[in-house]
Amino acid sequence: MNDSLKSKQDSVKCEVCMKEVPLSEAKSAEANEYVAHFCGLDCYAKWRHQAGTAEDAKKTSG
Ligand SMILES: [Zn+2]
Repeated sequence: MNDSLKSKQDSVKCEVCMKEVPLSEAKSAEANEYVAHFCGLDCYAKWRHQAGTAEDAKKTSG
C-alpha cells in the first residue's frame, strides 16, 4: 500500500464539480470573502452564472 508519493503540488478543488486540479492549472475567481477555484472555464462559467443570479435576480420568484 505504499504508493510512490508524487511530488506534492499545490492542488485545489473545483468549486463546482469538486474535482482536484493543480493550482497552476486552476482558474480562480475572487468571491465575496474567498477565492474560488475551478477545473476549467466550463465550471467557472457555471459558478459565475450561479453567483451572478444573486445580484441580477431582481424579479420575484413565485
Ligand atoms: Zn469543475
